[in-house]
Amino acid sequence: MRIDILSAVPDLMHSSFNHSIMKRAIAANHVEVNLINLRDYAIEGKAKQIDDYAFGGGAGMVLMIEPIDKCISQLKSERNYDEVIYMSPDGELLTQKTCNQLSLLKNIIILCGHYKGVDDRVRQHLITREISIGDYVLSGGELPAAVLSDAIIRLLPGVLNDETSALSDSFQDNLLAPPVYTRPAEYKGWGVPSVLMSGHTANIEKWRHEQSVERTKLRRPDLFGL
Ligand code: SAH
Repeated sequence: MRIDILSAVPDLMHSSFNHSIMKRAIAANHVEVNLINLRDYAIEGKAKQIDDYAFGGGAGMVLMIEPIDKCISQLKSERNYDEVIYMSPDGELLTQKTCNQLSLLKNIIILCGHYKGVDDRVRQHLITREISIGDYVLSGGELPAAVLSDAIIRLLPGVLNDETSALSDSFQDNLLAPPVYTRPAEYKGWGVPSVLMSGHTANIEKWRHEQSVERTKLRRPDLFGL
């Protein structure tokens, strides 16, 4: 899979792709992530300008269509893209189901807004899908793009060491994950459920499933019956 992320401040995303699971996924060629600086497509002779005041007035700058269009057009001339996604608080709410679907695609572009957002003509003519990571507003689309990419990349085959690991995470099958424990078996008198120490695989699986159901009923009853 290839993910091209277009941003006015790509440095904001470096650390999330340069550590741990994301770093290993990229090093092992499970995914190629390109952080593209929109300033490299700035309007000639205008001091790398990529934003301007909003027509009609009001506070806040707006990312201009021209650099974004130039960048997307160049990428599209090099390969086909399955989706051109804009991160936006008014987009569809990101879910595990969406991540599962997107993880099957080959090439995607993710556009990060900044300041007040992007010229709406970008959304009308260049974007195929708009995604929000929650009902709150961040300063830019960089953290949302990193969130979306991480959620997709960890689903790609071979990225997680244990193949079943992503499948047993919360929200797969509309169930939350069961509790997990590690050594020591007792800490300050606080123990660990004995079934986990029993070595009895079937009982452990049964316990985990029951815990998942209990947790989901208690914390997210809305997930049942979807
Ligand atoms: N004026 C816009 C918010 C702009 S915030 C509005 O009220 O809707 C600046 C940029 O941050 C947005 O263009 C978007 O790319 C990103 N962003 C902010 N919050 C986000 C969220 N919850 N999900 C996805 N992207 C978000």
